[in-house]
Amino acid sequence: MRKRARWFGMAFLVLVGFVVMPSVASPQSSVVVHVHTHAPVVALTFDDGPSSTYTPIVLDILQRYGAHATFFVIGKEAEQHPQLLREIVASHNEIGNHTYSHRVLTHASPEKVAYELGQCDRVVFEATRVHPTLFRPVEGFYDAPLTQRCAQMGYRLVLWNHDSVDWSRPSVAAIVSRTTKNVRPGDVLLFHDGGGDRSRTVAALPHVISVLEAEGFSCVTVGELLRNQQDRPAWWPYFRP
Ligand SMILES: [Zn+2]
Repeated sequence: MRKRARWFGMAFLVLVGFVVMPSVASPQSSVVVHVHTHAPVVALTFDDGPSSTYTPIVLDILQRYGAHATFFVIGKEAEQHPQLLREIVASHNEIGNHTYSHRVLTHASPEKVAYELGQCDRVVFEATRVHPTLFRPVEGFYDAPLTQRCAQMGYRLVLWNHDSVDWSRPSVAAIVSRTTKNVRPGDVLLFHDGGGDRSRTVAALPHVISVLEAEGFSCVTVGELLRNQQDRPAWWPYFRP
């Protein structure tokens, strides 16, 4: 009877190893929406900056709370504010590529994609000596050729799974609610620090960070979130370090 139980146990482990595991331990997706992790970390992301009005306020708030974020900058805006790019990097935040002229790149020619990503990269590198490795497509639109081209150019394509919808200027309470409700480890939150009046975004941000901190989360960059990625579930003891 004990022998039978042992065989059953072994058969179960083999089944888990060969059937279940590949499905949960699939290779890293080239599109990041959420990161699988058990660490209590979430990423804050800001699109469409840098803005001389709002980016310094966001950086101030982040510093005050010991939080960090990824800024997906528009190359043309960044070109006007190289000092802000340097401040983002100096304060241990992160810069991502959001195209040079805020163009949707689905159905775009390879040359257009190379131009839009390449020119934004040039602006960021000239100011900071850092090449971005994360790309956020404008309005979140992407297709297979764009994903492939991004990968060839060394970028991870980063979307989000909590949208503040702050571009529509909702109430501060609505921004806080959308970005703190049902948040799980590895989630990616979307805000905007450029492209319009972002006074409600910066008014909401301290509340967002406070609520998340009270729930035990640390707010980090997307790069840091990816470094916390765990491909296998915690209950699988064999592969645990
Ligand atoms: Zn945008």
